[in-house]
Amino acid sequence: MKVNSNINEQPFTEASLPPPIFSKTAFGQATRSIFLTFDDGPDPVYTPAILDVLSAYKAKGTFFVLGRGAEEFPHLVERIVAEGHSIGNHTYNHLNPWFASTEIAKEEVMRTSDIIESIVGFRPRWFRPPYGRLRMVMRQQAALDNMTTVLWNRSIIDWGLLGSASGIRNRLGRIQAGDIVLMHDGQRQHNRPDNLLRYLPAFLASLPEKNLQTWSLDNSYKQVN
Ligand SMILES: [Zn+2]
Repeated sequence: MKVNSNINEQPFTEASLPPPIFSKTAFGQATRSIFLTFDDGPDPVYTPAILDVLSAYKAKGTFFVLGRGAEEFPHLVERIVAEGHSIGNHTYNHLNPWFASTEIAKEEVMRTSDIIESIVGFRPRWFRPPYGRLRMVMRQQAALDNMTTVLWNRSIIDWGLLGSASGIRNRLGRIQAGDIVLMHDGQRQHNRPDNLLRYLPAFLASLPEKNLQTWSLDNSYKQVN
């Protein structure tokens, strides 16, 4: 499917754009569901490692991939989808949305969906802008391409000075039903997927006793539509 790229034909105004999703309330009932999301991959080291852990605990998540990484590691995008996870568009280069020209901002979104489609045969239906910054033209492009913009209501902060293994462990322990959780499988900038991986298995193992289940965004969408 070719997407209309002419800015003058954008049908969405700021007022008519669908609101971004931050947490479960958008999906209605979510008494047991949590939504783990992994950004900035695919990464040749950490994406397979995280997929292995998710698979071991029969957990599902959503991977917001960068177009340039998808282009470089298409087999990882195939694997994400083949193993029942959802795939999302996190732009091509992870540019700061505030500093990209209008044309580049649109291109960052469109090009990534084109690449994902060329790998898995369908366009993603979830979009997350870099840094969660809601640049209007990116949201418009996402909506034009039938993507829902999804942010998060809980961050594991698996990056930078706060991204220590113990900090990540503590924040994993606070996850509650309905949370959309921001994590990272990509190594860009100061991300610490290595520290995330230290406690992800124990966290997933603890979910049954907390009466929580992981859901991909696609699962959830099917459930309420
Ligand atoms: Zn990111």
